Amino acid sequence: MSKLVQGYEVVIGFETHAQLSTKSKIFSRASVAFGAEPNTQACAVDMALPGTLPVMNMGAVERAIEFGLAINAHIAERSIFARKNYFYPDLPKGYQISQFEIPVVQGGEVSFFLEVGKETVRKTVRLERAHLEEDAGKSLHEDFIGQSGIDLNRAGTPLLEIVTQPDMRSSEEAVAYAKELHKIVTWIGICDGNMQEGSFRCDANVSVRKPGGELGTRREIKNLNSFKFMQQAIDYEVRWQIDQIEDGIAIQQATVLFDPDTGETRAMRTKEDAADYRYFPDPDLPPLVIGRDWVERVKGEMAELPRVMAERFVRDYALPEYDATQLTQSKAVAAYFEATAKACGQAKLASNWIMGEVSRRLNASEMSIEQAPVSAAQLATLIGRISDNTISNNAARQVFEGLWNKEGEVDAIIEAKGLKQMNDTGELEKIIDDVLAAHPKNVEEFKAGNAKALNGLVGPIMKASKGKANPAQVNALLMKKLG
Ligand code: ADP
Ligand code: MG
Repeated sequence: MSKLVQGYEVVIGFETHAQLSTKSKIFSRASVAFGAEPNTQACAVDMALPGTLPVMNMGAVERAIEFGLAINAHIAERSIFARKNYFYPDLPKGYQISQFEIPVVQGGEVSFFLEVGKETVRKTVRLERAHLEEDAGKSLHEDFIGQSGIDLNRAGTPLLEIVTQPDMRSSEEAVAYAKELHKIVTWIGICDGNMQEGSFRCDANVSVRKPGGELGTRREIKNLNSFKFMQQAIDYEVRWQIDQIEDGIAIQQATVLFDPDTGETRAMRTKEDAADYRYFPDPDLPPLVIGRDWVERVKGEMAELPRVMAERFVRDYALPEYDATQLTQSKAVAAYFEATAKACGQAKLASNWIMGEVSRRLNASEMSIEQAPVSAAQLATLIGRISDNTISNNAARQVFEGLWNKEGEVDAIIEAKGLKQMNDTGELEKIIDDVLAAHPKNVEEFKAGNAKALNGLVGPIMKASKGKANPAQVNALLMKKLG
């Protein structure tokens, strides 16, 4: 279902460059570590010195295979490298080694859940391909006094370019796709996912059309390096394109940049066509041959994928799909959930606590779950004390606070803060009798049929019990006493 913007349908396709987490470059032995002094990690191959030849890094290939398996794609048994020719100072060879006609990963799909109003809908984006290529160097305009310099440390860094079909229909879908893709590549460990450092860069191709019409002309927003900017950039671009069309101006295919300071997109250059790059097979590299045995071995070694794990959570722990998706955002969160659920035997409560209190506290202190001061075992004990009626939900939040602040173990905190629920009916009955005697008007009104008058009694009872009365028990006793 498409959401229309001023009567236009939005069409988005993504190209994502994921930097593969190898130690060395895709065609040389130089290191890919981030942050080194300029040009200290560029060897003769990366600098394109005459007489050097590229040698395929099989670690990069293996990561491409893992990606293909994770998204149910076809892994080509034979793919080829091509030269993409263009002139730019950060590209000393004068061409980038990439894959063109036959990429290593073909097809596949990425599915995710999306909140639409109150509903959770499942969306699937088809992938066109994913291909291996090398990154270029970088121009440095600020590091040299009055001059620009070239840093070739990044030249030859292995990239997997992941290209979708134009399947997304809103900026929300686009962001959800990008988040899911990010989750997949970091989960299987082929990319560190660091967007600030450029390890995961998205280009959004955006066009608009009247519903049912032909695809509009697209503009490509380059290098979106945060999910927030991604949404802002696409929303701005969509409004801009619609304004142009409404003013009778045709959209020109172009490459644009998003400026976070103004919130606007700006044309960088008119877009080249594939023909401009004069692609041709690279004679320096043999075809990349991937035997079925290699694919089978990689498949056997791969960890359970997030969507498979989420399905298992729904099946084994009877969790709603939404919970299962949230809890499989990262391996660490999933492990924390499973440990808690297994220890307390209450999967839904464990899920509620992790998606609620635990993530609220983690967000507030900008921590990841690995850093959480409350262990899964402690959370499980806490949940156990709620379900055996030792403490109320309210008290449990105070105990959680105590655990977070390292005040001790669950039972010790309950004791120290005096949070034990009042399970002694005698004591509670006395409190109720006192409150009833002190509030004759509420009693009268309730007996006359005003159910709301009960609230005026429950409050003082809970207060008199210092919050330790069990609300269900209070209700039951009140009903008995008031007939
Ligand atoms: P190029 O070779 O110029 O990069 P591709 O055909 O490879 O172009 O498409 C690049 C990306 O643009 C793909 O993700 C594709 O889904 C997307 N795309 C193609 N046409 C459109 C369109 N009309 N509107 C939005 N996205 C599009
Ligand atoms: Mg392309």
